[in-house]
Amino acid sequence: MFETLQPAPADKILALIGLYRNDPRPGKVDLGVGVYKDIDGRTPVMRAVREAEKRLLASQDTKTYLGLAGDTGFNAAMIKLAFGGKADHSRIRAAQAPGGSGALRLVAELLQRTRAGATVWLSDPTWPNHLPVMRAAGLQVRDYPYFDAASGAVRFDEMLTALKTANSGDVVLLHGCCHNPTGANLDAVQWAKVADVLLERGLLPFVDIAYQGFGEGLDADAAGLRLLADKVPEMVVASSCSKNFAVYRDRVGAAMIMAKDGGQADVAMSQMLAAARALYSMPPDHGAAAVRMVLEDAGLKKDWETELEEMRLRMLRLRVAFAEALRRQSNSDRFDFVASHRGMFSRLGLTEAQVERLRTEHAVYMVGDSRINVAGLPEDGMDDLAKAIVSVLD
Ligand code: PMP
Repeated sequence: MFETLQPAPADKILALIGLYRNDPRPGKVDLGVGVYKDIDGRTPVMRAVREAEKRLLASQDTKTYLGLAGDTGFNAAMIKLAFGGKADHSRIRAAQAPGGSGALRLVAELLQRTRAGATVWLSDPTWPNHLPVMRAAGLQVRDYPYFDAASGAVRFDEMLTALKTANSGDVVLLHGCCHNPTGANLDAVQWAKVADVLLERGLLPFVDIAYQGFGEGLDADAAGLRLLADKVPEMVVASSCSKNFAVYRDRVGAAMIMAKDGGQADVAMSQMLAAARALYSMPPDHGAAAVRMVLEDAGLKKDWETELEEMRLRMLRLRVAFAEALRRQSNSDRFDFVASHRGMFSRLGLTEAQVERLRTEHAVYMVGDSRINVAGLPEDGMDDLAKAIVSVLD
């Protein structure tokens, strides 16, 4: 049965983890895998989540099925977190999904059911999993220009020009905040211009929001999404709690639909749930139940916001310190963009060969496209790291 199979290509980031783990050199630096890390390199369970889990264990008296949409309290809380209080909630629906990845797939399945083989426009570059997830649902994929490696900025004019060539009914996937892998984001004026083009061309926005609270703050990070919700008649959203609640392995996310009216939202939701039924039936409960408890309890919510804000500010501090160290060591402003990027990642604009030299000669690990996880930057070793990076430049 399996004799004709070839091994699937290895995941580059997972391979990097293995190499890092087996590297005996002291002072090795891991800027690879995309999880938040504290100053000790740990990814702890957040305080409020731990407390919610305790309460959940103490109060849960059944584990019977919840239904295809999962925890309805969680879904309502996730809509509020993403869309805020002002949106027209009567035409928004959400289904709990297994992580942001599961949410992306659910939305993609819904799109396939409403417009088979539709084209989804992805930023170039984007999170590598976007492509296979869209294709797995039967959708077509195209790229729009997004990142200028030399300046670290968004190629906004080119992005808009490309989107203006899209056909009515095409879907445009936008990172809600904290673009992965580049760290370069749209500002408010740019979001408004994108919204205008989406409206003009009849394009459907598909917002992937996986790092809300990691960039400018919980509300500010959803500002683009909310601006779109204000302007366009319909949109879809995939959100993830993996990072901002640090519940990575518990698989917590939400797939959301904003339709033209409540009736259409219900029909679309029923189709999305039918897709879920065929994929995995029901999402896992535990993590979403804990997140729901945090979001519904004023005390836990406040504590979660405080801890999330500490994480965000730590990444900001690291960005500034790293940009300053690079400025000192390179005697140039080439890497100043690191300080203005937001989220957990920045793409440094190094070649694969330079990234490879950093690993072999300096025990500095980053993804081959020179994406760094800012949370992995060594607070006390910025100049050594910057020196290593400068030493591999041409
Ligand atoms: N979207 C983006 C842009 C991401 O970076 C990630 C996580 N790396 C996800 C979605 C999904 O994450 P998860 O499935 O772990 O919730």
